[in-house]
Amino acid sequence: MPPPLAPLRGWRYHIPEQGGTAVICGGLDIGGTKIEARLFDAALDTVATHRVPTPRDSADAFFDALAGQVGWLQAQAGAPDLPVGIAMTGVVEPDSGIAQTANLPISGQPMQDRLVARLGRRLPVMNDSMALAFSEANGGAAEGSDAAVGLILGTGVAAGLCIAGAPAPRYGGIAVEIGHAGMPARALARHGLPLWPCGCGREGCVETYVAGPGLTRLAQHAGLGPLTALQVVAAGAATEPVLAMWADLAAECLEMLQMTIDPRVVVLGGGLSQMPGVAQRLTDALPARLMPGVPAPAIRVARFGDASGVRGAALLARRIAEGVLPWTP
Ligand SMILES: [Zn+2]
Repeated sequence: MPPPLAPLRGWRYHIPEQGGTAVICGGLDIGGTKIEARLFDAALDTVATHRVPTPRDSADAFFDALAGQVGWLQAQAGAPDLPVGIAMTGVVEPDSGIAQTANLPISGQPMQDRLVARLGRRLPVMNDSMALAFSEANGGAAEGSDAAVGLILGTGVAAGLCIAGAPAPRYGGIAVEIGHAGMPARALARHGLPLWPCGCGREGCVETYVAGPGLTRLAQHAGLGPLTALQVVAAGAATEPVLAMWADLAAECLEMLQMTIDPRVVVLGGGLSQMPGVAQRLTDALPARLMPGVPAPAIRVARFGDASGVRGAALLARRIAEGVLPWTP
């Protein structure tokens, strides 16, 4: 672990040699297995990180761990009011403030009430896909893009939307849940694929074909036996037809995004975004799926990798503290 910073005496601090004010911020990346705290400097470069396991069994233990990580960030920065944002899977309903998430023990909990009770302060919470889009639209692969989508291709599929550099408001708090849109019948017919059951309780969802486990399923369907997504990607010529089918199905997902959102850039995140050449593979597959005359978005891999989502949440907290963006629950 890197040594602690010298206390900065507040998250806005004067830099005499530059004649200006610098702002630092922190983020929590909350996943099913770990809560990672990450402190950022004024340029949004990582200064220090600290990981603890995610408590799985009780909301009390979860908020204790979360409070510990916020305390660590505040101590590192020497700033009890350090702007801290949270990126996590799932949503906090904007009207009720209730958290809904499949992989954390806090579904049904009033998120901000619990944070205030435990920490004495509230913290902005951002869906991880929305945080990816926001991060990449600010200094990342979607910088300068009027409409930018962050598309996570990992154990599931989800997307986030950023308009003119700011997170797009959401009525129900959900992200762009394209992973649970139905894969078009034309695509299933083209490849002779069945309707596969989805974790959401329905069948034929995009993510059952396009997420990492979907790639495994496609390989099995093609008679290649049990292979992990990593093995499918690494196998070379033997699995090329499976990867081509995957790209065609992922292109259907991109086509839906194009027809509904019309983004200038789609930034890829999640485990499958690490596949060598994935942006070019999808760029090549997309034109055949687009309606004639519809322009294709640029497809790029996230500049900030795994840390992009937490960077987005930290930036949101900073923008709120600066008065540039409105509070978000
Ligand atoms: Zn589903």
